[in-house]
Amino acid sequence: MKSVYLRKEECCGCSACFNICPTDAITMEPDEEGFLYPLINQEECIDCRKCVNCCPILNENNFKEERVPDLYVSKHKSKEVLLSSTSGGMFAALSDAILRQGGVVYGVDFDDEFKVLHKRAENLEQRDRMKFSKYVQSNLTDIFTQIKEDLIDGKSVLFTGTPCQTAGLRGYFKNSRLAEKLYVCDLICHSIPSPLIWEEFKKYLEKENGGKLTNIQFRSKIIDWTRENSNKTFMFKTTAKDEYIFDERYYKLFFGLKTIVRPSCSECRFTDVHRASDITIADYWGIEKYAPEWMDLKGVSLMLINNEKGDKLLDMIGQDIYFEKRPLQEALNEQQRLSRPVERPANRDEFWKIYKEKGFEYIMENMLE
Ligand SMILES: Cc1cc2nc3c(=O)[nH]c(=O)nc-3n(C[C@H](O)[C@H](O)[C@H](O)COP(=O)(O)OP(=O)(O)OC[C@H]3O[C@@H](n4cnc5c(N)ncnc54)[C@H](O)[C@@H]3O)c2cc1C
Repeated sequence: MKSVYLRKEECCGCSACFNICPTDAITMEPDEEGFLYPLINQEECIDCRKCVNCCPILNENNFKEERVPDLYVSKHKSKEVLLSSTSGGMFAALSDAILRQGGVVYGVDFDDEFKVLHKRAENLEQRDRMKFSKYVQSNLTDIFTQIKEDLIDGKSVLFTGTPCQTAGLRGYFKNSRLAEKLYVCDLICHSIPSPLIWEEFKKYLEKENGGKLTNIQFRSKIIDWTRENSNKTFMFKTTAKDEYIFDERYYKLFFGLKTIVRPSCSECRFTDVHRASDITIADYWGIEKYAPEWMDLKGVSLMLINNEKGDKLLDMIGQDIYFEKRPLQEALNEQQRLSRPVERPANRDEFWKIYKEKGFEYIMENMLE
């Protein structure tokens, strides 16, 4: 096999091919934008085609459910959980339920240098680090292989990630009976930014503010949980200052310019109500219009129950949350990513050309209004 993908738009970087390769012929290598892509060592490849067979992009239905999901509005019963979660605390409820049974949770954390990656949690302390959205594509490393080992040990496993990552995980397990105790939760995903630009942004902040970064929160609830204020609550702290620095520029790079998102996001196969997961979680934007009694400035979640395992998960978390069924149309009205991918910005190529020629500082000083 020469390559798993033909065009960059056809690789979401889920690492399923890397994890499944029986001869370790595949490595995940960053391109010049910092996104990981599989590279096949021709000498090690035995042409078994496992890599293309598990690929969520190449698979005809992308490992998505046929069932039209049920939509729920929900929020955690605990105020502390609401304040320490991005939306309405559904990740906390789901992961608590799995940990209570002695299971393990896989989700997204920072490493010591604030690089973003998937990790394994078997206790609350490790799980808590996975809370809050991190707007950078996470490195999945050999996580699917680790999940397989946990399932072989008979553990229940909850995996959370972007829709292309959960689809990759489904491709890795296909119809394996091992996956019986695997629960898969995806997010509605706007698109996913470049790890290289994230590295550049961290360096820039440290240079500007002095010291080393010690705290990062992309969307805090320091003002409130509303779409209008979500750009104002990106907070950072360095060793040079005691107080938090509020900085909207990463928000502008991501949600404003959109030039830093992965090429495959503009052809995303997962911007659909048919999900490649058991349960989908997101913000319940617009709830104040549809059911004002549910509005809570501390956060409200949207939940899609996609199959029977999703029904089971809802049963498992029912004691910890308030929830109510809602018309699916409400989610379709508010969430663009349930019907169409993010548009590829007209100046994407120009942005990367300028970045290569003039550097990140030039972008920060000239391309953000
Ligand atoms: C890149 C990105 C784009 C998003 N786009 C939308 C959107 O368009 N509309 C919308 O309503 N919601 C979006 N969300 C989801 C939303 O922000 C919340 O993450 C979600 O509602 C869960 O919140 P919570 O309160 O249940 O839990 P929290 O405690 O906030 O849980 C965070 C969860 O997100 C996972 N996570 C964090 N960072 C990443 C990452 N980089 N990649 C994969 N998984 C990650 C963690 O593993 C954990 O499961 C997005 C999230 C991310 C990370």
